[in-house]
Amino acid sequence: MDAYTEGIVLRQTKTLNGRRMITLFSREYGKIGAGTSLAGGGKGRSALALRPFTYGSYALRKSRGAWHMNSAEALRGFYRIAEAPEKFASCSYALEFTEKLLPEESPAPALFALALEYFEMMERREKRFDTLTVLFLFRAISLWGAAPELEKCVRCGKVPRGGVSFGVRDGGLVCDACMGAENIPDTGKDRLLYPLDFDILNVMRYFRGRPFQDFERLALDGPVLLALKRILREHAAWHLGVSGLRSEEFFTGGLSPTRNERHRV
Ligand SMILES: [Zn+2]
Repeated sequence: MDAYTEGIVLRQTKTLNGRRMITLFSREYGKIGAGTSLAGGGKGRSALALRPFTYGSYALRKSRGAWHMNSAEALRGFYRIAEAPEKFASCSYALEFTEKLLPEESPAPALFALALEYFEMMERREKRFDTLTVLFLFRAISLWGAAPELEKCVRCGKVPRGGVSFGVRDGGLVCDACMGAENIPDTGKDRLLYPLDFDILNVMRYFRGRPFQDFERLALDGPVLLALKRILREHAAWHLGVSGLRSEEFFTGGLSPTRNERHRV
């Protein structure tokens, strides 16, 4: 079968005899791994089209269950993603998250559109990169059917009148009354319960329903951002099995110079 698709390169791996394996988030087929003998080094046309983050058009052939990539052309390189280490780290996390989220060969057009929009906005963004990445994670999780419940307590079904926590295993808000009823003094890490102040809750509510472009100028404060990163990471791990990502710099920030070096592309 010959196929032609647009896609975003998630990963490139060298294999034997100068060949490469390209993990592609294709518009038509979802995530696929395609072997190729196209030149992946240097500045040639195909080399640019095979780099992670690139949005391109790809000619593929599937035979005996294996994909092969015959030609590749970059439509957008998103080169400016690599211009700042913080931006690159943030985008790398989103890219790896997307790769882990996607099953093999299952089309995901809404997530594809979201990812493209996210990378376009990140490319021109000058600062506060993680704000947009946290928003991307929230929207991707929601698209995948695991949107957290943010209006009612997931245990008693009532609209909370007082304080609330975020119950990762519960999948959303847990009111203080239910927390008290449980009578567990330690609501720490192992139970995956996070106290929520209203800033954090309001940001998550604000994330829903608007066009992604509306958030161009949004910039979250450090503590809110960190809390959201932790909550969304645990939520995605528990409900969607997305965990163990390599690009953990996203969570630490403040990269050292030696680490910056490694991020140059
Ligand atoms: Zn409750």
